[in-house]
Amino acid sequence: MIMISFPQRLLDGYRAFATQRLPTEQNRYRELSERGQSPEVMVIGCCDSRVSPEVIFDAGPGELFVMRNIANLVPIYQPDDRAHGVSAALEFAVSVLRIKHIVILGHAQCGGIRAFIDKIAPLSPGDFIGKWMAMFIKPGEIVEQRPHETMQDFVTRIEKAAVFRSLENLMTFPFVRARVESGELQLHGAYFGVAEGTLFILDKATKEFRKASELPISIGE
Ligand SMILES: [Zn+2]
Repeated sequence: MIMISFPQRLLDGYRAFATQRLPTEQNRYRELSERGQSPEVMVIGCCDSRVSPEVIFDAGPGELFVMRNIANLVPIYQPDDRAHGVSAALEFAVSVLRIKHIVILGHAQCGGIRAFIDKIAPLSPGDFIGKWMAMFIKPGEIVEQRPHETMQDFVTRIEKAAVFRSLENLMTFPFVRARVESGELQLHGAYFGVAEGTLFILDKATKEFRKASELPISIGE
């Protein structure tokens, strides 16, 4: 008997997928296999297990090009001799897939943001989370609770600020900026409220997040 310690939950999940979902999507998978992927939307979200873009946006195979990291952060453009994971994904999405939309998806109760706010001690000698979150602030910038601001409001404000910062940093990539300016690429911000499952969309004009359920429904593009 072969003993495999692969998680039973995943084996059960795959069986459910293979018997229920796959039959309805088999043609789509074959088509994608032959023609390759051509998603129009890239989502940059957090690793948080509660905030899965494919689940929230009810996406099927080939629809979303997803990049997830701690606190949904996009670094600034740094063409140096180091390896940059987010930049590599962006480069491929924008230059090869010619993605039309990039959505930065922030969320409530983000552990990365909380670690940053609480200035937690390094979790390991590498202090990878500390160094990763440090790029969130600009040199000389101070992030602190405002007078009369509750801790909850402060955390939410910083979680949303992470979306703004990532959108700002996206524009430091020449290949992103060029396509945004030519109108071929649009950048968007969103925020997911975990408890209620509420999605908020950033209204760039007012810099406010508005409930997706209250936005007018547009027909077509
Ligand atoms: Zn998070």
